[in-house]
Amino acid sequence: MSQVTFEVLTLFPEIIEAYVSESILGRALQRRIIDVITFNIRDFSSTSYRQVDDYPYGGGAGMVMMAEPIFRAVDFIKEDGKDRYVILLGPGGRTFNQDIAREFAERHGRILLISGRYEGIDDRVRRIVDEELSIGDYVLTGGELPSLVIIDAVSRLLPGVLGDDESSREESFSGRVLEYPQFTRPREYRGLTVPEVLLSGDHARIRRWRRKEALRRTISRRPDLIERANLSEEDKILLKEIKEEKEDESHKGN
Ligand code: SAM
Repeated sequence: MSQVTFEVLTLFPEIIEAYVSESILGRALQRRIIDVITFNIRDFSSTSYRQVDDYPYGGGAGMVMMAEPIFRAVDFIKEDGKDRYVILLGPGGRTFNQDIAREFAERHGRILLISGRYEGIDDRVRRIVDEELSIGDYVLTGGELPSLVIIDAVSRLLPGVLGDDESSREESFSGRVLEYPQFTRPREYRGLTVPEVLLSGDHARIRRWRRKEALRRTISRRPDLIERANLSEEDKILLKEIKEEKEDESHKGN
């Protein structure tokens, strides 16, 4: 049995299927670590020409997805009696992040994602979902990319998906800091060189350098993350060093 089954209600199942069948997710599917099942909302329309949208009450631009096909689809899916967490994708929802991905990977064995299209969804659909999630403060044409973002971020946290579990442990946000800079061959490219420490073979120095650079990157790009991070005594020393280096540089500039 898969660790997490993702069910996606969408008007464009092919978008979901194409993405999840490749690369790491494709392998996770083959190895049954995850399962992804798509449902075409159009199949649940009760009109002869499979209508799923209609004009908004009160007027206004664009079309709105009707409640009925979505209610019927959700009823059909729930006929199996299994527990599932139901998510509506929408720009007005709680913003998805790595903490939520981790929570889902640990807590939910079955997640149903409802992807909208057009100008949005009849508001009554909100009555049958557990929560509404957004992937960021911008508006996309549909909920397929947001659904895939959630499937991808949650799946790569499941044991066995990445092969080497270290990879997700050291990644950005894992300890509320961004990832350290990575390099691969060659040592020099167009005059740009790899930091000497990474070639030294001295694992203790490399570990310290990586932690320091991760902290340096986080404090300059995402100071909000540092404020909430659980910093070790070593981190505090590294941050002090970074601050002093910065002050030195600004004195040199003067
Ligand atoms: N008129 C809606 C509004 O202003 O909130 C936007 C509708 S959008 C064009 C169509 C669908 O794309 C939405 O129903 C939702 O499923 C999805 N969508 C768009 N942007 C999103 C985002 N940032 N996060 C999650 N879903 C999004």
